[in-house]
Amino acid sequence: MIYRQSESVGGIMSKVIGIDLGTTNSCVAVLEADVPTVITNSEGYRTTPSVVAFSKDGSRLVGDIAKRQAAANADRTIFSIKRHMGTDYRKKIDGKKYSPQEISAMILRKLKNDAEQFTGEQVTDAVITVPAYFNDAERQATKDAGRIAGLNVLRIINEPTAAALAYGLDNGQPQKILVYDLGGGTFDVSVIEIGDQVIEVLATSGDNHLGGDDFDERIVNFLVEQFKETDGINLTKDTAAMQRLREEAEKAKKELSSAMNANINLPFIAMTKSGPHHMDINITRSLFESMTADLIDRTVTPVENALHDAGLKKTDINMVLLVGGSTRIPAVQEKVRRICGIEPSRNLNPDECVAMGAAVQGGKLGGQLTAGSAASEIILMDVTPLSLSIETVGGIASRLIERNTTIPTRHSQIFTTAGNFQTSVDIKVFQGERKFTRDNKLLGNFRLSGIKKALAGTPQIEVTFDIDANGIVNVSAKDLGTGHEQSITITSSSNMSEEEIERAKWEAEVYGSKDAEKQDIVNLRIEAGQLLQNTEYMLHEHRKDWDKQTKKQVKEACQRLSKAIGRSTPEKIDEVTASNICEAKDYLENTLSRMGI
Ligand code: ADP
Ligand code: MG
Repeated sequence: MIYRQSESVGGIMSKVIGIDLGTTNSCVAVLEADVPTVITNSEGYRTTPSVVAFSKDGSRLVGDIAKRQAAANADRTIFSIKRHMGTDYRKKIDGKKYSPQEISAMILRKLKNDAEQFTGEQVTDAVITVPAYFNDAERQATKDAGRIAGLNVLRIINEPTAAALAYGLDNGQPQKILVYDLGGGTFDVSVIEIGDQVIEVLATSGDNHLGGDDFDERIVNFLVEQFKETDGINLTKDTAAMQRLREEAEKAKKELSSAMNANINLPFIAMTKSGPHHMDINITRSLFESMTADLIDRTVTPVENALHDAGLKKTDINMVLLVGGSTRIPAVQEKVRRICGIEPSRNLNPDECVAMGAAVQGGKLGGQLTAGSAASEIILMDVTPLSLSIETVGGIASRLIERNTTIPTRHSQIFTTAGNFQTSVDIKVFQGERKFTRDNKLLGNFRLSGIKKALAGTPQIEVTFDIDANGIVNVSAKDLGTGHEQSITITSSSNMSEEEIERAKWEAEVYGSKDAEKQDIVNLRIEAGQLLQNTEYMLHEHRKDWDKQTKKQVKEACQRLSKAIGRSTPEKIDEVTASNICEAKDYLENTLSRMGI
């Protein structure tokens, strides 16, 4: 199935949203008067952590709330689900197994809801981005996740292409650009040509398992080792402590992008017979750089490969776009400067440009762009990142479509029988660059049956493989002798069946409404906790200058709120507790404002 622009126009369409469904963070944008605009989520942020959590009572938390409660609920919190897309990984919670598609759908549903709140309209159509390196199964899984979330996915586009699209809007003059995207879990590099109103991906390369998470891990490992030395305690078995460590490590890493020093301060990180242990470790930028230099070095070869595949030298590149939160690391920027020999662009927001480009493509597909606007003039052409092959004798992968071929594309091949009076043939389809099929990804196999009985080598069956604009593979077959045509679906064994998708979609709808209320309650609990902490801190800070009466009243209001919060946790919180918290929180806020604090 190929979506053409003209097919999806027709009828009145609601706004099409562009979604950057990231490993770590997701971002949504929509066109407003031909200009891509980032959607603020219900928590007031422009990006949403791609984190899902299951609370003990069975409800689901998504985004910031899920991330914040992770330390207290580590084994029921799911990070980086995108790394498992297209595989048969399943997360088991309370006896039910969730596929990566279903978990991703929970994230997408929140993004959809937030977009509806933001635009004030119902949202049904979306363009979703994926790393350029994603294979067929991963793309299909992403599309299915959209369906489960109740979204009509008009198109899957590559993240770097989307970034180039966002960049190309204001910089339409012909040029060759390199997109260097280092996110939380993946690294992608693409060489892109912005021609006269055409953006074409010339080549892509990358590393599906390299990103900011790895940088965090280096800091975590360092902290664990240090703590072992100073306190003689191994923290690695304590999941909650490790989660706190990871959070602090990420914070420190971000600080080190602007400061030369970061302090990691974790009181009560461990408890032994001798009492509580606290962590207080300082990390300098140069120490961080020495810990992570090899990670940054790993981006060099993919850059060289992409340039090589595009048939270009680095001096042919006019501009480098930095995408992904991890490109804020100074050493990464320095490395890019060194590899490419030019100063990277500073005009794009590395966290938002992918979603913005997706929104532009969405607007195009939805027919929402004003004729003559800059965005309406640009045509997007993408390439397939991986070669498509079929298995021939000896387990050899025989290429049908080479990687970096512009999509949509199709290729036909004639098959015949090997034995006399054979009525069927088996065909195995693979994706990947390796010589032997065993080293590539099996997309699926199918049996071509109903062949008219004949001597070996006589029947002529034309099999057509096409890769649609989403990068998804479709297959059809025709018996040239009879003219009989057969359409074949190759479904990767790791992906969900039609029936499973429908059931998941239904479940998601049922849970959808219930969870919104739950999120409000959990939010309230978190806010109340923060207010209490801040007030207690103020009490301590002003212990000398506040008069007795003020201190007494504030303390009293604090105690009231502390009691209301009690032993409630994000997983265990009911409506009665919530209303008590709400009341006590108001009381504390009123007390503070009465005191002029
Ligand atoms: P993804 O596309 O994989 O979802 P993002 O592009 O959102 O990821 O990047 C997320 C990563 O960027 C995280 O590892 C995060 O810690 C890192 N990051 C965000 N801001 C900074 C910063 N200022 N300095 C260093 N790393 C950062
Ligand atoms: Mg990203």
